[in-house]
Amino acid sequence: MTDAAHSYPVSARNRVKRAHERGRYDHETVHAILDAAMLCHVSYVIDGQPYATPTIHWREGDMLYWHGSSASRMLRHLRAGMPACLTVSHLDGLVLARSGFNHSVNYRAAMCFGTAVLIDDPDEKARALVGVVDRFYPGRTAGLRAITEQETKATTVIGMRIDEASAKIRAKGVGDDDEDLDFPAWAGVIPVRTVIGAAETCPKIPAGLSRPASLDIYAEGTALDTALTVTQRLYEA
Ligand SMILES: Cc1cc2nc3c(=O)[nH]c(=O)nc-3n(C[C@H](O)[C@H](O)[C@H](O)COP(=O)(O)OP(=O)(O)OC[C@H]3O[C@@H](n4cnc5c(N)ncnc54)[C@H](O)[C@@H]3O)c2cc1C
Repeated sequence: MTDAAHSYPVSARNRVKRAHERGRYDHETVHAILDAAMLCHVSYVIDGQPYATPTIHWREGDMLYWHGSSASRMLRHLRAGMPACLTVSHLDGLVLARSGFNHSVNYRAAMCFGTAVLIDDPDEKARALVGVVDRFYPGRTAGLRAITEQETKATTVIGMRIDEASAKIRAKGVGDDDEDLDFPAWAGVIPVRTVIGAAETCPKIPAGLSRPASLDIYAEGTALDTALTVTQRLYEA
């Protein structure tokens, strides 16, 4: 396979211009950033007004999915087939320099471009409604009360094939100017992580029912991006 087969095409739209050395277009890097997050922002324009809606997403190959109430304005507009941009970003570190100008952050971000369409094929929609649960909690749907026809009707699923994408990553120390290095101000990187907390069991759970071992992926203290990367791999397997 060629590199092109492992990368998204690069155009004027997705070519990283500012700090271009931080740009990546290969599937592996872009997908890793998408898969390490549950939260994304979907951006689109309605009647000339830009919106950026936070929501959860999941990925199957080069398809991105998100869902919501059939009454949602975002979903009602996107279902018609609309250009959209889905972004994910991870804040990995605070970078404190010897000048305000050189302060920065370490991050991983992905921007995906495509046309958002309504998933109305009943089989694909049913599969997606399993995916939105099982992608995050492997195998969980099989142990749940089945989805009803009414619930399926009340839910809209949107899919977007990634036509073009870019990743941008900063993962390094302080970028001070040489002439500032002797300046007596503390400088360095403060790492940032989003970590799973202690689970709070619903008090109405029947006696004797314990948390399934499959949820140990979300054990207290685990980094969220690690847990989500693991669950994506299990979902793909
Ligand atoms: C947590 C976080 C904090 C940031 N803080 C700042 C800040 O304070 N100031 C600042 O100037 N920038 C910041 N950035 C970087 C910012 O996202 C942009 O990359 C930058 O502002 C350049 O924007 P541009 O439109 O000029 O880029 P251009 O290089 O002109 O954008 C061209 C194309 O490059 C790609 N691209 C650009 N940025 C990104 C990205 N972040 N991720 C994936 N693809 C991208 C897109 O496909 C875009 O269409 C931050 C990023 C993150 C994730």
